[in-house]
Parts: sequence; C-alpha cells; structure tokens
Amino acid sequence: MNSEIIDFIRDTFGEKESFIPLHVPTFIGNEKKYLNECIDSTFVSSVGKFVDLFEVKVAEYTKAKHAIVCVNGTNALHLSLLVAGVESGDEVITQPLTFIATTNAIVYANATPVFIDVDRDTMGLSPKALKAFLEEHSEQKNGECYNKITNNRIKACMPMHTFGHACRIDEILSICKDYNIELIEDAAEGMGSFYKGKHLGTFGKIAAISFNGNKIMTTGGGGIILTNDYELAARAKHLSTQSKVPHKWEYVHDNIGFNYRMPNINAALGLAQLEGLDFFLKNKRELASKYSTFFKNSEISFFEERDEEQCNFWLNAIFLKDRKERDLFLGESNEAGVMTRPIWQLMNKLPMYKNNVKGPLTNAEWLEDRVVNIPSSVRL
Ligand SMILES: *Cc1c(COP(=O)(O)O)cnc(C)c1O
Repeated sequence: MNSEIIDFIRDTFGEKESFIPLHVPTFIGNEKKYLNECIDSTFVSSVGKFVDLFEVKVAEYTKAKHAIVCVNGTNALHLSLLVAGVESGDEVITQPLTFIATTNAIVYANATPVFIDVDRDTMGLSPKALKAFLEEHSEQKNGECYNKITNNRIKACMPMHTFGHACRIDEILSICKDYNIELIEDAAEGMGSFYKGKHLGTFGKIAAISFNGNKIMTTGGGGIILTNDYELAARAKHLSTQSKVPHKWEYVHDNIGFNYRMPNINAALGLAQLEGLDFFLKNKRELASKYSTFFKNSEISFFEERDEEQCNFWLNAIFLKDRKERDLFLGESNEAGVMTRPIWQLMNKLPMYKNNVKGPLTNAEWLEDRVVNIPSSVRL
C-alpha cells in the first residue's frame, strides 16, 4: 500500500525522479515587480506604501475591520495576547496538538498554557472538553474566570485551526462568553479558510495569521493580527512600533513596546502573494480532491473538509492505522524522496511544558500516533 501511495503522489506532482517537498511557495505573479518597486523607492523597512496597502487588502479579504502587520506569526500571537488583556500569572487555555509557537507565545506574555483536548474530526480544540474542564475546575469571581485549583485567573482561550481546517470556533466562542474568557484565535495556518461563511480569525476578539515561507502565502517572514475592535488594533500597532508617540522630532515612547512591525519589503512580496491567493486555493482544492478520491479506496483516511467549512487545504493530512504504520510510512516515503512529516509532538510531552495543567488528552494522543502530512504545494 505504501508504495502505491508514493507512486500516486509522484504521478500527481508529475516529477518522476526528483524530490517532492511537503510545501514550497509559488512566485508567479507580481512578486518581482513589487520587490523592485520597493527597492527603487528606498523604503524597504517599516515605513512605506506596501505595508499600509497590505493591511488594507488583508482586512478587505478577511472582512476583519482592522489588520496589523507583524514581523512573524509568533509575535502577532504575542501581541494579540497582550492587547486582549492577558497578564502575568494568568492561565490561557489552548490545545496540546499544535505548533510550538502557540504555546511559546502564551509564555512570552508571562502566562501559563493549560492543555485541553482536541476533536478528532477537526484536530482543533474540543468545545466539549473545554466545557467539561471549565465546569469542573473554574469559578467566577467579580465577573472573571478563575482556576479553582491553582487560583490563577483564566483570562483567555487560544484554539488553533489545524492545517487550515476550522475548529468548532462558534461553539468555543459561546463557551468563552459564558465563562468570561477572551477568545484569541491562532489562525496562523488559516489564510483563505472560511467557516460558516466567515474567515478564520474573525470569530474571536483577536487573531493572528502567519505568512512564513511554508504557509499558503508568504511575505518571507511575517504575520498579521485581525480584530474588529478599534482600541485593540490601535494598541497592537502602537506596541509593534516601539510604542513611539508621534512627534515632529522627539523620541517619545510611552511604554515598553516591541520592534514587531513588518518591513515594507516583506509586505511588497505579500501583496503579490495575496493577488495569487485565489489561484493557490483553487489549485490546492483540486489536489485535495485527487487525494480524497485516491484514499477512498484504501484503509487510510484523508482529512476531509467538513460541512459548512471552506478549507484552504494548506497541508493535506492522512490518518494511518497506528503509530507503527505511521512510522513505516514516514520511513518509506521519505526514503523514496517524497517528503512527509508527522503531526507535532504534543506540547505536554515537551520538557518545558510537561508539568502544565491539562485535561484528559485522548484524542490528541490518538492523532499524534496517526496523522501524517503529505506533499501539498501548488502544482504548476
Ligand atoms: C506557523 C505557525 C505559527 C507561527 O508563525 P511564524 O510566522 O512562523 O512565527 C503559529 N502557530 C501555528 C499553528 C503555526 O502553524
């Protein structure tokens, strides 16, 4: 079976001999034109027309009221947590099945990640598990949520939309509202994905998207914050630019800010990529549909799009029978020059997070043993 899959992937990408990567960016539009324009203008750093325009265009695309660019998705998450009011000593509920940046960003904000299980069919935070945890372990004090065991405030919940597939974000939002918890979405992987007609990252109070080189569209390195809240947007932008207060000549800074604003040259690249996004989405949907048909006749299942979801199919994923089969497949495919990767190791198993509070993690563990990403680049 494994060799059939490997052959199928080779045929699908039409590269009989060479190495087939997991995901590479596609530059077939105005990338070079805008980069040249940017260089010719001399505005290659944090000021310039491309950064401003990129924010406007991403806001238009996602229908978020405000979009604030950052140097990468990780610091977009960090700023989102800060402006959403996460403070030192707070707890932030998140999922253990995610890329390390989600968890690290919570720690950068001096808060503690709490790990709650995911759903198998979304690979995102499970509203059922979230509710069960809060019912058992939380209490309300002065309109805020507290962990009864640790006595820490539970300020926020940060679910992640895995591989561009939406988690049950509307149900999570309603639970967060009931418990007075802020919802911050890690939509790093979700550019171009919609759920119930809304772009991922526009459900909660604030969200971050990544434009790293391995994501569906890239600015080289980069990220963006989405929010409908003007105050939060203004604070995020201020913090991202060293908290500099406008003045004709003086250096006035009113708090400890960050150098987190995306340079113009990255935004120039991003603008061209955004123009290509619809093509990328269509192309990736066709690939996902080929995979889906292929795996229908096998014991291996494909991570399908669910009802009411419009997925970007950033990274395709399959479910192997168990960890042994997973490792066999990883070995054989990579040996054959078809790049495949397992889903992340659970955060609670990493040395720095092994003592964090967690709920039962049955689904996350099940997925960790079985999920593998297969080549997903745009095919030309
Ligand atoms: C890529 C990614 C990030 C971080 O984005 P960077 O731009 O690489 O800093 C955060 N969370 C998840 C889930 C990601 O996949």
